[in-house]
Amino acid sequence: MSANGAMAGAGSVKGWCPGALKPMQTGDGLIVRVRPRGGMLTPTQMLALCRIARTYGNGHIDLTRRANLQVRGVRNEVLPRVWAALADCGLIDTSAEAEAVRNVLVSPLAGLDPTEICDVRPIAAALEQELEQNQALWALPGKFGFVVDGGGLLALNEERADICLKAIRTGSGDAAIAVGIDAPGVTEWLALVEQRAAHAAAVDVAIAFLSVSRGEQRARMRDLGAGAIAQLKRLLPASLQSVSELRFDLISSSGNSIGAITAQGRSIAVGLGLPFGRIKSDRLETLVAEASSLGIHELRLSPWRVLYVPVECMRDGETLSDVAASCGFITGPRHPLMAIDACPGKSACVSGFIDTRSIAHAFAEAMPMAGISSVHVSGCGKGCARSKPADVVLVGTPSGIGVIRNGAASDAPHTIVALDDVARLPALVKSGA
Ligand code: SF4
Repeated sequence: MSANGAMAGAGSVKGWCPGALKPMQTGDGLIVRVRPRGGMLTPTQMLALCRIARTYGNGHIDLTRRANLQVRGVRNEVLPRVWAALADCGLIDTSAEAEAVRNVLVSPLAGLDPTEICDVRPIAAALEQELEQNQALWALPGKFGFVVDGGGLLALNEERADICLKAIRTGSGDAAIAVGIDAPGVTEWLALVEQRAAHAAAVDVAIAFLSVSRGEQRARMRDLGAGAIAQLKRLLPASLQSVSELRFDLISSSGNSIGAITAQGRSIAVGLGLPFGRIKSDRLETLVAEASSLGIHELRLSPWRVLYVPVECMRDGETLSDVAASCGFITGPRHPLMAIDACPGKSACVSGFIDTRSIAHAFAEAMPMAGISSVHVSGCGKGCARSKPADVVLVGTPSGIGVIRNGAASDAPHTIVALDDVARLPALVKSGA
């Protein structure tokens, strides 16, 4: 394996995501991010990752917004040992370049959910393989991503991606795959293809994107203007130009993403939330050991910071939920902490001005609040934990906690609250200040 660029420019380069072979330098050491294939991993792989976090990192595992797992606080000198441990359990790519472009988000219940339109795991696997092996695709920008969505209970309707493959039901009742691109504000659907042709269609669109973006490393699909989009479409094969206006209704997902997941009268999985996307590795090990003892052979990752454990009966789900609750997972729906994004803050990041997690916990005690469904607590204006706007943003500044309504961490605060006045924040927000 090569680790080209593992250290070069780490921490100073923007517009790319860390990987395992190309970790990113932060205030608390390196971030080593692992992309499990198909968004799933075995208990053995998860236990290996826990050991890495405990031995070489800060002892925590983070579940990211792209359904990846990461370990923070890793030192440069232990990287070869981390890579060897990841290689031993099949969690590493053959090159940093392949790893960087293998950015595929898959429905977390693919193949488990009897209400899904089709099982998209083969499409995702074929696409990941193509991204790994087709070196022409390695020129894609660092954050360029794909969504492969089979629909069903936990459809990925809210997840943006440069290229989207979405299962839909045709008029004849068959499953087909809609191929879409991320235009400003919407997904523009280009064509319908058969399931077996879907991964190749995504590759065709990616190659066309590279032609029109001319290798600009930070360009994303949504950055292309109307002329470039028209040019991209002209470069596609005829099979992807056959539909001039493809419209369909997205079937909304159940929204029941935490706790017991049932479909057609039977248990299929249990969803376990990680507060702020983080769990201590020893607690995760306890949960995984319990899952293994129940004969469970895989764990599924989601982009909304919920881990899914497939179960075949309600009793196994209840057993896992009880163990997970004792380990610090969120096991019930509508928990206020799941509405809050918070970066590690000043305890872990040199850029942080505030202790984000304690402020988030204090704010959660005042929730639910009318009209507030998303809160972002950010250690500084960079806003690492959330790219989308939130109903309320509490952001660290040199002079205190900035309060922003309906905005992002980089926006100018409406009000600054002194650090020793945190208890006043909920009342201030409720008053609309
Ligand atoms: S938002 Fe700021 S404080 Fe938080 S992790 Fe990012 S750089 Fe660090």
